[in-house]
Amino acid sequence: MRTIRNLPLQGKKVLVRVDYNVPLKDGDITDDTRIRESLPTLEHCLKAGASLILCAHLGRPKGAVNPKYSLRPAAARLSELLKKPVAFANDCVGPEAKSKAAALKPGEILLLENLRFHPGEEKNDESFAKELASLAQIFIQDAFGAVHRAHASTSAVTQFLPAAAGFLLEKEISTLSRLLKGPARPFVAVLGGAKVSDKIKVIENLSKTADSVVIGGAMAYTFLKSQGISIGKSLVEDDKTDLAKEILSSKKNLMLPVDHRVAQKIEKGAQVQETKGPSIEPDWIGVDVGPKTSEKISAVLSGAKTILWNGPLGIFEIPGFAKGTTDCAASVADATAKGAFSVVGGGDSVAAVTQGGFAKSISHISTGGGASLEFLEGKVLPGVAALEGAVHV
Ligand code: ADP
Ligand code: MG
Repeated sequence: MRTIRNLPLQGKKVLVRVDYNVPLKDGDITDDTRIRESLPTLEHCLKAGASLILCAHLGRPKGAVNPKYSLRPAAARLSELLKKPVAFANDCVGPEAKSKAAALKPGEILLLENLRFHPGEEKNDESFAKELASLAQIFIQDAFGAVHRAHASTSAVTQFLPAAAGFLLEKEISTLSRLLKGPARPFVAVLGGAKVSDKIKVIENLSKTADSVVIGGAMAYTFLKSQGISIGKSLVEDDKTDLAKEILSSKKNLMLPVDHRVAQKIEKGAQVQETKGPSIEPDWIGVDVGPKTSEKISAVLSGAKTILWNGPLGIFEIPGFAKGTTDCAASVADATAKGAFSVVGGGDSVAAVTQGGFAKSISHISTGGGASLEFLEGKVLPGVAALEGAVHV
């Protein structure tokens, strides 16, 4: 993969695709991790004497202008973090973007409004990409969270500019590659979350390379049901039980929960009970893995040399249902302290690890939920493939 290191940046106008798809509440950014993660690339370019034109998407405005999804708050936050002004263009293409981009001097930065206000972005439209590209002389892809999509700013744009990966993209790809190619063993993958259908391909692909695959979260109930174990009113995907059964019979390295924490309602303050074994009574809902399962997970993790964790093990958003997830975070942190290489990916998993105060004890926190999953499924990411085929400097 061509990276930013090999590029002549002095005096150049550089278009950087960043991932500023940050959570907002009443117009305020509630978590600026993604903006912070972009800083190494931006600072490198600024130091090298480039001027920066940043493009990004926020939310799903579906090809129409919607002030709710404006990137303006991101410009303000970036300016605070870089301690320098960040200009803003109200449209990512057109006369305002053109004149503001043209006026940039080396060391100056412009953030363009949400790419997805134009339908051409998600359609990977060539003429839209060409207009975007016309603002700059070099393109840098650093939006790891967006490279699993073939959009104008991840794919078509590379037809018109010399292109390379930024530091964040490079770091994500090289780190996640360590899981798929020659991981230090034992390699333990812990996979949880809500839906089997979201993670089935990851389970299949990782069960080839991992020594153990721990299944938790709501996904586990579909697997348990496929074994004829009663799961009460737990979340289940009935159309996936056959597939779950097939995976369990062909892969021998999967670990399912041996007990659960159950409740009768999914709400704060609901009474929680622990089951004695893997089955759940008719009126109860599995909301978290149980203590025996946590112990088993802790034991398998304590011997691991490589760890991937994706997907919370319970409904961690509700404090009473978060214990299994927090225990797992603590076990991953312990194993890391003992020398294991650990990766946590997925929006909710990262939130859980951060909420529990374990983020600093993990080797790598992956910023892109969908992109990291697709990479771990073994797929080629379109935004990475596009860099390989891009025009040369
Ligand atoms: P990530 O974002 O880390 O990839 P997912 O989006 O796949 O994770 O799954 C996270 C969601 O799974 C959380 O909202 C959590 O509440 C939910 N979840 C975990 N366990 C259960 C469960 N037992 N029942 C219902 N939902 C669950
Ligand atoms: Mg999620």
